[in-house]
Amino acid sequence: NYNFNPGPAALPLEVLEEAQRQFIAYGGGGMSIMEMSHRSPAVERMVEETGQLFKKLLGLPDAYRVLFMGGGASMQFGLIPMNFLKEGQTAHYILSGSFSDKAYSEARAVGNAVAAASSKDSKWRVLPDTASLLLGSNAAYVHMTTNNTIEGSQFKHIPDTNGVPLIGDMTSDIMSRKMDFSKFAMFYAGAQKNIGPAGVTVAAVHENLLADCSERIPTIMKYSTYADNDSLYNTPPVHSLYMTKLVLEWTERQGGIAAMEQSSEEKAALLYGVIDASDGFYQGIIGQPYRSNMNVTWRMRDEALEKQLIAAAEERGIVGLAGHRSVGGLRASIYNAVPLEACEALADLMIEFQRVRG
Ligand code: PLP
Repeated sequence: NYNFNPGPAALPLEVLEEAQRQFIAYGGGGMSIMEMSHRSPAVERMVEETGQLFKKLLGLPDAYRVLFMGGGASMQFGLIPMNFLKEGQTAHYILSGSFSDKAYSEARAVGNAVAAASSKDSKWRVLPDTASLLLGSNAAYVHMTTNNTIEGSQFKHIPDTNGVPLIGDMTSDIMSRKMDFSKFAMFYAGAQKNIGPAGVTVAAVHENLLADCSERIPTIMKYSTYADNDSLYNTPPVHSLYMTKLVLEWTERQGGIAAMEQSSEEKAALLYGVIDASDGFYQGIIGQPYRSNMNVTWRMRDEALEKQLIAAAEERGIVGLAGHRSVGGLRASIYNAVPLEACEALADLMIEFQRVRG
């Protein structure tokens, strides 16, 4: 199959094969890693090495702590204001797509939050202007979503926040491109797109921000608890973490994020090229400068035709192309584990489909 699912998404075949070999007898021992105590040296080492590899691949300085948590990226939407939005402060949200809007509503449920910039009025077809954000002196943090998974847009430039901590949801483009990560006081990602299976969420938090966690929240919800206990305060999602480690090792073997970035650009250019050369048969949903290299979205002249393309794709083993139910149309999610060959197969199909139905 060529898997274009938006998440959980394709995993490298090599990783699945390795996991299969280790499934019953981890490290050649007598049991699966799922059966081991999270206090055992083997699991402790696995968790530590996963964090180190994550940092190494992104080139993160020591001042960042890498934390592994449960609850998905959606849990972070709530934990961030609970930890970092204090009485008398305002949290600023850059609204660029439906996930950023969800994060914003969670913050409003916790405290005072405002939209620093928004493209909601244009139905998320463009990215909001973040060149001069108006942040008051009581700003707690700025939150942004670097890649809008549902809509298919991506920030190429990370805004300046004039010293206000910037927090990024990188769920759908983590590990896919070089970025000045030091611009972020914190960033987080559900693993299930570029770095692993569902079940584990990674958060990288600068120690200055960590020092600022609220005291008046339950222990398990504080980032400092995860930092103080090396992500082993309670039972972590051991198997998801182990799979994440394998995906990160695979990423390193491919040449790290530089290689991921180059291949993402190539894959995206191929699909956008077909869309742009189609004389409107395929219509990109997102304005050109904002297009994502992870989620390519487009529409066709009517829904019936879109369904026919999806069916024709499935016949060739090309799956996962239906757009999100809130947007419709089609979406090809081309995360790190999707090979160029899959995009070539899709591009060929789209060209042929247009020739027959155009
Ligand atoms: N943020 C972004 C950008 C996402 O793409 C997603 C899921 O697709 C989420 C948050 C929600 O993640 P989770 O399902 O891990 O809670």
